[in-house]
Amino acid sequence: MRASTGKDGIDRFIVCVTRLCNNKCFFCYSGRERKKDELIPTGEILNFIRLLKRDSVAESRMLIITGGEPTIHPDLPDIVREAKRCGYEAVRIISNGRMLANENLVITLKEAGLDDIVFSLHSHIKEDFEKIAGVEGSYVQSLKGLLNVRKYGIRFSINIVVNRINYKTLSETVRFFISLGVRDIHLFQVQPFGSSWKTDGYPLSPPEEAYAYFQKVFSLPIPEGVHIETNKIPEYYLENFEQYIGEPRKFEDNILGRYPELSAYVSGAEKISCKGPRCKLCYFQDYCNDLEWVMSGRILKRREVPRCIKTPISGKGATLRKNEGFALEAFTDFYMRHRHFVKSLRCKECIYFSKCDGAWIEDVRAGGFKIMKPVVEKK
Ligand code: SF4
Ligand code: SF4
Repeated sequence: MRASTGKDGIDRFIVCVTRLCNNKCFFCYSGRERKKDELIPTGEILNFIRLLKRDSVAESRMLIITGGEPTIHPDLPDIVREAKRCGYEAVRIISNGRMLANENLVITLKEAGLDDIVFSLHSHIKEDFEKIAGVEGSYVQSLKGLLNVRKYGIRFSINIVVNRINYKTLSETVRFFISLGVRDIHLFQVQPFGSSWKTDGYPLSPPEEAYAYFQKVFSLPIPEGVHIETNKIPEYYLENFEQYIGEPRKFEDNILGRYPELSAYVSGAEKISCKGPRCKLCYFQDYCNDLEWVMSGRILKRREVPRCIKTPISGKGATLRKNEGFALEAFTDFYMRHRHFVKSLRCKECIYFSKCDGAWIEDVRAGGFKIMKPVVEKK
């Protein structure tokens, strides 16, 4: 269970009601932590959401109910009802949608006050969908769930986790869901956590090969009112479409998701359990390397503006070192301001490639990757 306040001033509280799930997605984030029969007792959940609400100072609060699969918690409607009763402005669930094939459950959730549903639907092709979900019959149930939710007028959006099975047909998947009335689509790159790390083979879409498929998605004519966002998608896939690079808040939210473990590491109590060979596949590799650097007592300097960009940016000379009271928040802030740099695929042509860290992500968001001009010959 965790909380974050966005720049929009909304406190978002995330509560996991069970780690159980009726799907077996090969990349599931919590797949490894799942224990048999693990439903969080309803009384415990209700107390927790009341306490969160009481302690929140923001004007607006959203409760996000996740799992596992939250719709298999038999008391989900009661949890939603209580959240609305005690004053959450919005209550959202994140679901694979299969249980919502049961129209009665959709009606009950709507009557309980549910505001919106984020579906996790990873392909429009039945075979791929079921290969990813690991359950025969899941495709029809999930789609029926989505259509039921649309029928009863509950707001909905979808998350698509991009992985080695679906990346080649991603643009068709996006088109298909837009045709079903989805107006908000969030694309994620699978990360090497949970089940995906024990899965045989490479879970991600392979970088060089996948580039063209990502470009195809972002080149789609997007109808008015449709909104596409990315999260943990390597930025070089978004060349020419830099408007899709996630806001810094997204990165900070993702760090918040690993807050207990990372802050335990910063306090010196524990190592990071996932540190190791998987880091090379992980979106947070650069962040974790920097954190490790500071934790070893060394000074972390701001990154230099690349040779191909002449305009200096502020913060020259900024440094960070571990001192008494050193906290993860201070490190994350420093990283975001001075170290969160990205490269373009075109950097590979540049003679400075091996020595250069790329450009600050906010400069790329503002000016596009075209601000980088590979130097091809030594002057
Ligand atoms: S880069 Fe960081 S978060 Fe990612 S696997 Fe390695 S230690 Fe874990
Ligand atoms: S083109 Fe890329 S590698 Fe070359 S200097 Fe610019 S940012 Fe660095």
